[in-house]
Amino acid sequence: MEIHDNILSAIGHTPLVKLHRLVGPNDATVLVKCEFMNPGASIKDRMALYIIEKAEKEGKLKPGGTIVENTSGNTGMGVALAAAVKGYKCIFTMPDKMSLEKINRLKAMGAQVVVTPTNVPAEDPRSYYETAKRLHRETPGAFMLNQYHNPDNIEAHYKVTGPEIYEQTDGKIDYFVSGLGTGGTMSGAGKFLKEKIPGLKNVGVDPEGSVYEGYFKTGKLTEPHVYKVEGIGEDMLCGAMDFKVVDDIRQVDDRQSFVAARRLAREEGIFAGGSAGAAVHVAVQLAKEVGKGKTIVVILPDTGMSYVSKFHSDEWMRDNGFAEEKGAGTVRDLLN
Ligand code: PMP
Repeated sequence: MEIHDNILSAIGHTPLVKLHRLVGPNDATVLVKCEFMNPGASIKDRMALYIIEKAEKEGKLKPGGTIVENTSGNTGMGVALAAAVKGYKCIFTMPDKMSLEKINRLKAMGAQVVVTPTNVPAEDPRSYYETAKRLHRETPGAFMLNQYHNPDNIEAHYKVTGPEIYEQTDGKIDYFVSGLGTGGTMSGAGKFLKEKIPGLKNVGVDPEGSVYEGYFKTGKLTEPHVYKVEGIGEDMLCGAMDFKVVDDIRQVDDRQSFVAARRLAREEGIFAGGSAGAAVHVAVQLAKEVGKGKTIVVILPDTGMSYVSKFHSDEWMRDNGFAEEKGAGTVRDLLN
């Protein structure tokens, strides 16, 4: 018998799967880490559970308490499922560019969701971060995960995600590719893998419009602009982003991210989100550059189910101008 006492022990131990059709015979091996197979359908389940259990041990989160967080959706889901099992209340703030599926899913898990404007600076009192901070101050017995600046976000991936990838591959990896959102996945898992595997290179993936790549390459903050891919990129620097473990950061545009996610579905049978598409786009590029004999591990942070009415829809791709490319007509032409 293999029975979980509750859903929380089903977090992690996600499959690592080899790509076949997106990479050529002379390219490096690309292994994708299917984080969408977590119970909350994203990598964030790991971090949420780790931080909540640490806060319980440290007495920062007491029975019947409220967890407050600003989230692009996935962290909220991880928090909400742990809160449901453990009996906490949840209040989440989410920017209004996030998919309705993500917002309604959190409500379905029993959370209160406060939707905030996307197009305001991080320090604006209306931003999702400042709104969460205010709700944290105003709610008695509240605990804020503070994933963007909490070193435990990094620690979760250092203690859990990194070792899992190491064990699954016997440490035979040459490149680790991960999108940069809070930076927690790269800063934690990337740090662990780099310490264990001599010569391993960490490659961060950043959407065009985010400040990470420019800051990494020039030390300066560029002017951010809005982009459509969800979960990666930032308009500010975060405490959970440790640039010291990163060897390279590559930028990917929305179209490249969405096309790669759609190809992953159609050609590999792997249904993942846009940040997974961004990471796969970079991994496939890298696989060509470094060639056969090398191994690349790529994180697929969340599920395609959250984007069925967005980039996984042909109509949405067409309506948002992603279907046109010189000479190519329909979405199908573009993809084949
Ligand atoms: N992809 C998605 C869909 C996410 O929700 C997140 C988390 N914001 C990431 C990637 C990036 O992960 P991290 O925050 O650990 O950098």
